[in-house]
Amino acid sequence: MSSAVVLDGTAIAERIKQALREELAGLKGKPTLAILSFQTPASDVYRKAQCVQAVTLGIRTREHTASVQATQVDVEQVIQQWNSDPTIHGVFVHQPMPSQIDPQRISATIDPRKDIEGIHPQNSARRFFAKARIGSCTALAVMELIESTGVDLIGKDAVVVGHSEIVGRPVSMLLLDKLATTTVCHIGTDRAGKLEDHVRRADVLVVAVGRPQFIKGAWIKPGAIVIDVGINVVNGRVVGDVECEAAKQRAAYISPVPGGVGPITVMMVMKNTIEAFKLQQRA
Ligand code: NAP
Repeated sequence: MSSAVVLDGTAIAERIKQALREELAGLKGKPTLAILSFQTPASDVYRKAQCVQAVTLGIRTREHTASVQATQVDVEQVIQQWNSDPTIHGVFVHQPMPSQIDPQRISATIDPRKDIEGIHPQNSARRFFAKARIGSCTALAVMELIESTGVDLIGKDAVVVGHSEIVGRPVSMLLLDKLATTTVCHIGTDRAGKLEDHVRRADVLVVAVGRPQFIKGAWIKPGAIVIDVGINVVNGRVVGDVECEAAKQRAAYISPVPGGVGPITVMMVMKNTIEAFKLQQRA
């Protein structure tokens, strides 16, 4: 018998969408989001989800699907064209990128005012000082789910597993901004055999690793909030990084996969495109 409240990411995304519809109705002009994806099944699924939501909101899209053999120069040239095109307001480059491409150089190539993921060094620095104008879409989605529980984060032990630039690190900054006592775990934590100990004391646990059911249900602190960011396909089924059914027996709140972080992240891409549009209108 499960006890955790299962957080409904689809319903939260729908509420955000309604608010965005109203905001768009009050804008002079329509934002355009440019999406650079790679020819991989995962990138294709995500690109389609982004385009569907953009169309239903009336956000225009421009798309470029790069070959997995694309060079650094090929990708940078597309971004530079979009940077100099005043009809494009948001630029989103899918990750992970093929191994021959340096993601940090790509982040630095995007015009910071059009950087929908908040990955340009200027935007990363703003987040460091809690002054982000446009934040990481996935990190913002995680915070929406946590906030939907109504639990005050001040002084809570928050543990983030994974320290990637697009998920783990920005989430940890946002948790710090809420005055949660935040620990970031990574491969070194696991190699040192300390991961379970950290997870066991987490009042708020955010997992973004990309390994199916990596975090065991028995490790979850009773009453915890568990946010599972992972997306893994196992035997044709999408599963998260947390052993969900077992974790439900102990957690107070848990986000499912699918239907948790994912739909909100897509909506945050739309929200950030609108924010970028407004920034550029003001400039
Ligand atoms: P990533 O760049 O591959 O990062 C994975 C992180 O996990 C790294 O920081 C890595 O640390 C850490 N890690 C790897 N093995 C570990 C271990 N044994 N113990 C502890 N930490 C370990 O992936 P990402 O982009 O952050 O994405 C993570 C997952 O979230 C993926 O499944 C991805 O598909 C999913 N995702 C979902 C959404 C959504 O909207 N739902 C959005 C983005 C990503 P090291 O770098 O030190 O190895």
